[in-house]
Amino acid sequence: MLKATAISRIFKRKHGTVKALDNATLEIKEGEFVSIIGPSGSGKSTLLLTLGGMSHPDQGTVHWNEQLIYDWDVAKRSQWRGTNVGFVFQSFNLVPYLTAYENVSVGLSLANNGAKVTQNIDSLLDELNLSSRKDHLPSELSIGQQQRVALARALVKKPRIILADEPTGNLDPETGKEVMDILKKQHSAGTTVVMITHDPNNAMLAQRTIKIVDGRIVQGQ
Ligand code: ADP
Repeated sequence: MLKATAISRIFKRKHGTVKALDNATLEIKEGEFVSIIGPSGSGKSTLLLTLGGMSHPDQGTVHWNEQLIYDWDVAKRSQWRGTNVGFVFQSFNLVPYLTAYENVSVGLSLANNGAKVTQNIDSLLDELNLSSRKDHLPSELSIGQQQRVALARALVKKPRIILADEPTGNLDPETGKEVMDILKKQHSAGTTVVMITHDPNNAMLAQRTIKIVDGRIVQGQ
């Protein structure tokens, strides 16, 4: 489904350069649940962004099925992402002046007409236990509710793949478990899930764990 082959990414720094990804190769198969672990600064986020078409590698290729996503122009890549990829971030990235409902609707507006956008925002908010909060701004929501809104925004377009960057990183164990339950349910329903985590218990919920150290994949590719 997604295949990265020998990808490298070098960032220039004030003093020298840093190799965020170093000849990394991995394949994510349709329907898999994969966790990505590794020390801070080892290249996990860069890998996830590269898989999601948001960070052009300096070397190597990323295939979506038979197609090379970085051969597409920016518009085609963002259309592909809008339709197929649901991103979830540690810091939620909600629009502060939009209500919960409106934040979720942003997820739909990013999807193109080809997406199977049949999901009703209300039923999704209901499923995520947010119905009573739909007219609230992010600042009026608890941390757990904010992350559930961010999940709803990612899920509303029924993405083929969810890319989650430490989705429980800012949450207490109980709300973290709620988020993991939602991801597990999505996976059971057939969605591919790739999740960065620092939590070994969450990593163990995945079918496969990829470990990255100094930009190199050392386990699980
Ligand atoms: P992780 O997610 O494992 O913490 P990252 O992928 O965020 O690691 O970062 C890997 C390395 O690349 C780090 O040294 C980080 O500082 C550096 N890096 C990441 N993004 C940028 C950027 N946009 N500009 C400069 N350096 C970056």
